[in-house]
Amino acid sequence: MSSQRQPENCPPGGGRSGASSPAAGPGAPGWPRSLQILVKPSGSACNLRCDYCFYLDKSRLYPDVAAAAMRMDPRVHESFVDQLMDGQLPGAGVTISWQGGEPTLMGLDFFRRAVRYARERAPTGAPVGFTLQTNGTLLDAEWCRFLRDEQVLVGLSVDGPPELHDTYRRDARGRGTFARVARAAELLKEHEVDVNALCSVHAANAEHPREVYAFLRDDLGMDWIQFIPIVERVNDDGSTLLQQGSRVTGRSVSPNSWGAFLLAVFDDWLQTDVERVHVSIFESAFASWVGVPALMCVFAETCGEAPVLEHNGDLYACDHFVEPDHLLGTITETPLRELVASDQQRRFGAAKRDALPRVCRECDVRFACNGECPKNRFVPAPDGEPGLNYLCEGYAAFFRGIDAPMRLMARLYRAGRAPAEVMRLLPPGFSVTPSDDGADAAAPHREPPP
Ligand code: SF4
Ligand code: SF4
Repeated sequence: MSSQRQPENCPPGGGRSGASSPAAGPGAPGWPRSLQILVKPSGSACNLRCDYCFYLDKSRLYPDVAAAAMRMDPRVHESFVDQLMDGQLPGAGVTISWQGGEPTLMGLDFFRRAVRYARERAPTGAPVGFTLQTNGTLLDAEWCRFLRDEQVLVGLSVDGPPELHDTYRRDARGRGTFARVARAAELLKEHEVDVNALCSVHAANAEHPREVYAFLRDDLGMDWIQFIPIVERVNDDGSTLLQQGSRVTGRSVSPNSWGAFLLAVFDDWLQTDVERVHVSIFESAFASWVGVPALMCVFAETCGEAPVLEHNGDLYACDHFVEPDHLLGTITETPLRELVASDQQRRFGAAKRDALPRVCRECDVRFACNGECPKNRFVPAPDGEPGLNYLCEGYAAFFRGIDAPMRLMARLYRAGRAPAEVMRLLPPGFSVTPSDDGADAAAPHREPPP
């Protein structure tokens, strides 16, 4: 099983977006091990106004630039590509990931030029991949032909069936966007574009896990799915611009609902879909159970390898920390290599591990969770220590709940068998959702080496 196909880096555009597609292969000395740079060619500009979008407000970081003018100069993109290619070891593959805002606002010509340049600039024999995270509403047949011909992996943001999707994903006139997104999904499929779904989980759809999963899988025909929890921290001024504050908006998913959502989807996935439908969080968990590094940055021990490139060449520590305090520099002034390997970025990455509260350090599912993303660590632990993840209760329930099937899949994998065999080996009626009598699952553990 592998989640390497996700177009998101870590959470959105979420994450995004996400997720999990290396923007660069193994780097030259001084270059982070698995660098994933998200490029925002149109900055925070978007044609929609989704209520929970964490990126629209980033326009406030560039008060002198109108949304319509927030467009990356192709020469900045080319400078980025040059520097990215120069950082690679000979022959190593490169993936360029575009996100927003809404990157399709740039128009097709920007991407045609970008793809052509990257392919020309790539060292001989080095594969170049492209991913695009989009709300889908601007896609047409011409876009789809381009995406298919250039083998761009597309992540489509969709939150479930119409009434659930339209609750928060709306346009500037307040109209739901479902019909336009469903049309995009159809067009992409019709043109055989490689596509996966990015589904944000929030107050409106969290109580409908099975319905959402079945819809994405059956109605939209998605076999690669990424679920992202919406956690919006309310700042002192009432905005959600910075990762500050310990209150969350009413749109945010509750810890308990997040855990229950994942467990219910896992239950359905375990019946028929293992190795057939790729759910990034399940595959990342599987990696943890077999003892290899987590596939999603949020579950890695440290972070700092997923910076964001803004429209003007500014590089920030991470998609979720596009804030003045986390600006690393500008790639047209300071070499990309220096910025990604800077002390500032190293400290940012190591802080994820070093700031873990004791309850996480001693937690039985730390090997899979690692305290999740620092952006969500803003509640006190039971012993009063600050910095516990807001979603802790949900993650603890999820990772403990899936222990038995994960151990079995890990054993199968180590024996050279297909993890999908788990579907016929588990007893009939097996479920990871808590029983009504509240019985606890056995304490999880990583499979011992063979
Ligand atoms: S802060 Fe770290 S864990 Fe969170 S999204 Fe960014 S890179 Fe991933
Ligand atoms: S489940 Fe909770 S206590 Fe355990 S590592 Fe994750 S956030 Fe920390």
